[in-house]
This record gives sequence, structure tokens and C-alpha cells, in this order.
Amino acid sequence: MLGLMMDMPLLISSIATHAEKFHGGQEIVSVTADNPRHRYTYQECFGRARQLAGALENLGLDPGDRVATLCWNDYRHLEAYYGVSGAGLVCHTINPRLFPEQLVFIINHAEDRWIMTDVMFVPLLESLADKIRGVEGFIIMTDEAHMPKTSLRNIVCYETLLAAGSGDYAWPTFDERTASALCYTSGTTGNPKGVLYDHRSSLLHAYAAVAPDVFGLSSRDCVLPVVPLFHVSSWGTPYSMPMAGCKIVYPGPKMGDGQTLYELMDTENVTASLGVPTVWLALLKYCRESGKRLDKMQRAVSGGAAAPRSMIKEFRDVHGVEVRQGWGMTEMSPLGVTNTMKAGLEHLSDDEKLDLSVKAGRGIFGCEMRIVSDVGQELPWDGQAYGALQVRGPWVCSDYFKLNGSGGAHTDDGWFDTGDVATIDAEGFMAITDRTKDVIKSGGEWISSIELENTVMAHPGVAEAAVIGLPHPKWTERPLLVVVKADGAEVSGKELLEFYVGKVATWCIPNDVVFVDEIPHTATGKIKKIELRRQFADYQFPA
Ligand code: ADP
Repeated sequence: MLGLMMDMPLLISSIATHAEKFHGGQEIVSVTADNPRHRYTYQECFGRARQLAGALENLGLDPGDRVATLCWNDYRHLEAYYGVSGAGLVCHTINPRLFPEQLVFIINHAEDRWIMTDVMFVPLLESLADKIRGVEGFIIMTDEAHMPKTSLRNIVCYETLLAAGSGDYAWPTFDERTASALCYTSGTTGNPKGVLYDHRSSLLHAYAAVAPDVFGLSSRDCVLPVVPLFHVSSWGTPYSMPMAGCKIVYPGPKMGDGQTLYELMDTENVTASLGVPTVWLALLKYCRESGKRLDKMQRAVSGGAAAPRSMIKEFRDVHGVEVRQGWGMTEMSPLGVTNTMKAGLEHLSDDEKLDLSVKAGRGIFGCEMRIVSDVGQELPWDGQAYGALQVRGPWVCSDYFKLNGSGGAHTDDGWFDTGDVATIDAEGFMAITDRTKDVIKSGGEWISSIELENTVMAHPGVAEAAVIGLPHPKWTERPLLVVVKADGAEVSGKELLEFYVGKVATWCIPNDVVFVDEIPHTATGKIKKIELRRQFADYQFPA
């Protein structure tokens, strides 16, 4: 027997309608290339999003067509999220930091019909124009006064396009499984793969994200998403923030700049912010050097890479800010786990609480997880056994765009293999030990590069650390520690190796340390271990 409840599709446009009605006066503040502090309200934002939807239809776009964005975090990009998806089109967010060949690949693979671009990416697109001939036109995200001179053909000024869209546009209704957005993984091996989100998955993910033990968002919050709108839908914040009615602050092109972030947090009364550890390290460094304190911030959500213990401690002890670690991936919209205190663990000492907060986090309702051995056997949740981390849930991808099952990431029994290796403890806290391809195999044992990086980051002489496994005649592989020194620090390799003593198992301590000026990063700010291994391919451990 079926229940007797209304069958209303879960559509992204319904968030806009709700937010406009109940939080119409709420503010959205943005730094943009043409305005250091643009401010307006939800009402204006979603009104403009409807105008955009109408204007896109006027361009002759059909349901399911891809419209790409090449933009920073600001209000116009947020309007695109709603205008494009709300109209039944697919919002393909592109990471401008990808290599040109990758950009060409994904624009052609996605068959983008139009590209919405910030002015500063116009030269980049001009350089690609010959190779992306399927693109019909470019919408430049500015007003007529700031339109650039360009050789791109068929260009439209965003503000002029909007002005032609009707304010009476009514959001269409369609199947909630309709594709809403497309994001390509950065593809450290092989070509990038497209993850195609739908309206239903995005809404369910947003409901999960606002929950107290996840991002804990409310209309009393002011949220600054540093995580880019071009990467995994900025962790779903374009949906979760308006769903909760939060004030929104966008840093525009100034994402990695500690001073800009601090000033926005201070003057706009930001209570919660989301970003990768690199961003948090830059913010902490700025505060340390300028003697500033983050008085108003309550929560810093950190994900995308392991959050160092020293970073969590500094936020907590110096600024009174709770770091909430999260783990997930593009294929998971991205939320898999978040790390918040669990009832029954309040008695832990401050140090034990820190140890716990270094783990990726515990399960979120809506995303199941398991760890399995090499032979596919499920492993116990004892905090010791480590294996391949697999997940499933309504916001986890079932396939990649146009790969028709050839992505090789799904198991026969319907789980998605994340490519991460993890432990899960008896309380359900999961800790990532490595990506499968970065695991260091020493003798018969696996050494966690993440644990080694995390530990050494607590040394004041270390600005950034990466550990890679390199061939060793006796042990198959041994860890090499690669370090960027903190500004002006005098520290020796011997000192860093001694720093590990008593903190990790003796046999895990790296065999050697090399100092470098820079560690290579991927387009999403992760350490590029493939590149590092290539760089040190000829390296020999001391006898
Ligand atoms: P990419 O485009 O690089 O695949 P994703 O954002 O999808 O980008 O990356 C997801 C990966 O990032 C995860 O599989 C995991 O390896 C890593 N990651 C994310 N969050 C954490 C975390 N809290 N701790 C450790 N690793 C993390």
C-alpha cells in the first residue's frame, strides 16, 4: 500500500522560492573584480536568477543543455546556479585552474553550448577558442561599463542579458531526477570524469548539510564559503545556505588571501566558513603575524585534504574557533562524514578531543560507508583495520557522464569505491590513512603518509609537508619526507626526524628529509603526489 502524501518533486528552484519568501531581506555580500563590496538581498538575487532563466530560454537553449561557468565565488555565480539549473538546464562549473588541455577536454566532452565567464578568464578562453568550436557563445559576467575587448565571437554582457529577461518568469516543474549540475574530477590520472548531479540529490544533500552535527546552518549564521563554486558545488553551500536563510559572504577572486578573509570575517560578522586546509593555514598565518583574533567566527569547516592537528589546535586555543573536519569527494556531492563531538565522549581530555578531531569524521545520515580488504571482505570497525573505503547513498554518483559503466569505480553490489584507504573506529569515526595510490608499502605493512604529514606539521619550522613512498632495496618502499620550511626557520632534517620519536611507531618514521621551495599542488589545492614521486624518481635513500 502506498502512502497518501503529496508527490512534490524536490527541485532546486524550490529553495529559491522558499528563500525569497522567508528570508527575502537576508544579505549577500561579494567581493567582485569590479566592486570591492557588492551587497544586495536574497530577494534581488533570486529575482535576478529568474530573469536569467528566462533570458537563457530566449537564447534557444533546450532542457538538459549544458551551460558552463568559469567564475569565482560571487553573487553572479550564485545567480547562475539557480538560473541555469532552475530552468532545467545543466550548470557545468569549470575549474579555471585546470591545465588548458583539460579545459578543452571537459568543455568538449560536456558539449557546453554557452559559457558564462568572469572578465579575467576571457584571455584564457580566447587562447582555447580554436579548440572549443562547439561553444555557441560567451556570457561575460559584468556590466556594459566593464566589458572587455575580445576576439571571442558571439559575446553577451551578463547585465544586459538579464535586463532582457522577464521578472515574471515562473520556475518550471519537472522530474526531480533531472540533471542539474555537472562537475569534473580533477583527473590526476587519465582524463577528467564528469559527475552529473540531479535536483533530488542536491536537495537531499542540502537537507543533510544544514543539520546541527554537519554544517549546523541557521538563519542566524553568516557564512563565508571559501571553497570555490567551481568545485563540487562549493560543497553544496549554494543550496544549503539559502535553505537555512544564512547571510552569505563571497570573497570573489581573493580566496587564498588571509588578510581579505580576515577582514571579511571581521566586518561582516562571519560565524561559519568552509575551505581547504591550505586556506586555513594562510588565514592563521595572517592572524599570527598581524596579532589579529577571530572573535566572531564559531566554526571553520575543513575538507578536501587532511586537517593538521596543529591547525585545529591553533584555531581552538588561540581563536576559540571549532574546526569541523569533513571528508567527501566530487562523486559524493561531496559530503560523506563530518567530525563533531558525539554524546558519550564529552569526558575526553582536551588532548584526546584533539586526537579525535584529526579523524575525518563520523557518518552522516544518507551516506553509508564500509571498509573492505583486498579480497572484498568487510573489515571490522575497530580503529585498527584499514581497507578500501566504499560508500553508497542518494547523493553518491551511480556512473560518470557518458562513460556508461566503464568508469570502474563501482562494485558489483552497488557501492562506490572512493579510492581512499581508511579505518573506522567503534564510535563510527572514520580516518583516512591515504589514497590507495599513495599508500606506502614497507615490508608487509602499510604506512600512512597522512599521519606522517600531520605529525610533522606541528613543528614550528614546517610550513608544508608531504610524504611519499619511494623504492627501497630491503623494504620495497620507504617514506621520504618533503618539507617547505616556514619563513625564516632554521631547521635540520635530523631535528624533524627526531620530532617523530614517541609520536608515531618507530618503523614508520621517514628514512630521510629533503627541503624544497615549493610542493606541487593540483588545481583543487591538493598535494600532487604523482608529480612529487616523478620529481624524486632518481632519489636514493642514504645507506
Ligand atoms: P579531486 O578532484 O582531487 O578528486 P575531490 O574533492 O573529489 O577532488 O577529492 C576527494 C578526495 O580528497 C578524497 O577522496 C580524499 O582522498 C581527499 N580528502 C577529502 N577530504 C579529506 C579529509 N578530511 N582528510 C583526508 N583526505 C581528504
